[in-house]
Amino acid sequence: MNASDLNALRLPGQPHLHWRGAELWMDGVRLSDLATRFGTPLFVYSKASMLSALAAYQRAFAGRKARVCYAMKANSSLGLLNVFHQAGCGFDIVSGGELERALAVGAPPASIIFSGVGKSRDEMRRALQVGIGCFNVESVGELRALNEVAQSLDRVAPVSLRVNPDVDAQTHPYISTGLKGNKFGIAHRDALAVYQLAASLPGLKVVGIDCHIGSQITIVGPYLDAMDRVLDLVQAIEAAGIPIEHIDFGGGLGIQYQDESPPGADDVWAQLFARMDARGFGQRAVMIEPGRSLVGNAGVCLTQVMYLKPGEQKNFCIVDAAMSELPRPALYQAYHHIVPLQQLAANAQGQMWDVVGPVCESGDWIGRDRALAVQDGDVLAVLSAGAYCMSMASNYNTRPRPAEVLVDGDTARLIRPRETLAQVLAGETI
Ligand SMILES: *Cc1c(COP(=O)(O)O)cnc(C)c1O
Repeated sequence: MNASDLNALRLPGQPHLHWRGAELWMDGVRLSDLATRFGTPLFVYSKASMLSALAAYQRAFAGRKARVCYAMKANSSLGLLNVFHQAGCGFDIVSGGELERALAVGAPPASIIFSGVGKSRDEMRRALQVGIGCFNVESVGELRALNEVAQSLDRVAPVSLRVNPDVDAQTHPYISTGLKGNKFGIAHRDALAVYQLAASLPGLKVVGIDCHIGSQITIVGPYLDAMDRVLDLVQAIEAAGIPIEHIDFGGGLGIQYQDESPPGADDVWAQLFARMDARGFGQRAVMIEPGRSLVGNAGVCLTQVMYLKPGEQKNFCIVDAAMSELPRPALYQAYHHIVPLQQLAANAQGQMWDVVGPVCESGDWIGRDRALAVQDGDVLAVLSAGAYCMSMASNYNTRPRPAEVLVDGDTARLIRPRETLAQVLAGETI
């Protein structure tokens, strides 16, 4: 193997990364300069990439009553939230902590949707006090709790019920959420009865219906099936005298990590709107909650090779990033493409490596059996690291969390400094 096969030019799903000569750039910034300036491991995001992913949804939504609420659990760093807020998005949140993040970037509370199966009464209270747009409720118990909290504050809570359309999103079991055996949502056959209960409770006002069938979905079929199931319910609920102002269709659209070819957001929504039009729902307000598809391919994680450890059965390339900031391989056996920031000369010798982190777990790997021409000290880019990486980062092994940089054209701005050990230890006592 020689280096031109190895450090392949291939950059799946990455229009904002490109080679200039032998070096990898993001938009107008050379990535190796950022590694030198800010250290590694380092997350780097392209603002242009985020906005172009959003534009695909906006194209499909032109002339419609539709709003994008960015699902911030994919990546909740304030610097990224601000980009989406400035671009007109609302937010989908799943905790009181995420509510404070949305407020911190100046999001109008009415543009915030509160999802999740386990909202606490404290979280409900704060969300009611600031006046969020909608609670997506997932159980009868939660409905009753929200009613009590709202009445105790002398308020009326706007609610949608998250219904489970019972369609198979054909994705990884840990990120599939729309099937019967799942903890999420209210069963399709119970939905009408729960809507009738909701409509009878004085502290609640029914405003919509919600579903979210899973994540990293790469085909349109499950979405179309879910839309039909949801529209059937809307008809039944409205026939029972309960108006549904908006349909919240969740998120879940996949991205290209390796050789997937997910449909474009504009294509998916052209088909979904055609279905809604055909069934007479073309004028209904729509909300969506995309996360991964807006940020996943906007981010890379830069990590330096610490040691090369060739072995009898496997060669290990030990890098300074780990499952503590790149948890998806350990959690879902996920694939992230890995490329060196500098391609070696065409005659460089390379071989197969398992790229692993320093954390003391055999599950701490980032890529297996990768053909790479690498040397100690090289910096690698782990691609498609914008979603469900930094937002899931932990301090396992007492590792401070990485820094984050936002690239805007040819400028790069630190949006989160590297965490210090003092910050990690703060608050603990002997
Ligand atoms: C996670 C989640 C999303 C976002 O999912 P993506 O796959 O990142 O688009 C949207 N809505 C709800 C309720 C979620 O739990």
